[in-house]
Amino acid sequence: MALTLPAADRIVEPMPLVLVVEDEPQIAEILEGYLRSSGYRTERAGNGSAALNLFRAAHPDLILLDVMLPELGGLEVLKVVRQESTVPVIMLTARTEELDKLLALELGADDYVTKPFRPREVVARVKAVLRRSQPPGQGAPLRLGALELDPLRASVQVGDTALK
Ligand code: CA
Repeated sequence: MALTLPAADRIVEPMPLVLVVEDEPQIAEILEGYLRSSGYRTERAGNGSAALNLFRAAHPDLILLDVMLPELGGLEVLKVVRQESTVPVIMLTARTEELDKLLALELGADDYVTKPFRPREVVARVKAVLRRSQPPGQGAPLRLGALELDPLRASVQVGDTALK
């Protein structure tokens, strides 16, 4: 029996997009570099209002959000984002901003990283938060007509016939 599987690029998820919101270009550049070499796509915003525009236009999978931003602060951005979306948000806070950390978590941030941070640590947290936030539908069987692929059971079925 001939079985045509869909092209791989129709199953593989696109690389997650991380929106880096940071007004210090050097920090933003380092973060973007590490994220990209870890397989993420990135967009960058240097202030709060640019961040909101990009958030609405690019639909990032995760936002790295600095607290101290020109124009619109990070906490304000977080508030607006939370009114519109459950996208994971990791705040970047300075050591002296203890209160901001608590506020950020209360406002719905998923995690925070304290500056100065090691870029590797930020990437690790991005990975962890994205893993936690995978929608419940992920891992559900994929159906194409009579063909069913179940990634959790690693099984393939056509109609009532199991192929593997
Ligand atoms: Ca800043």
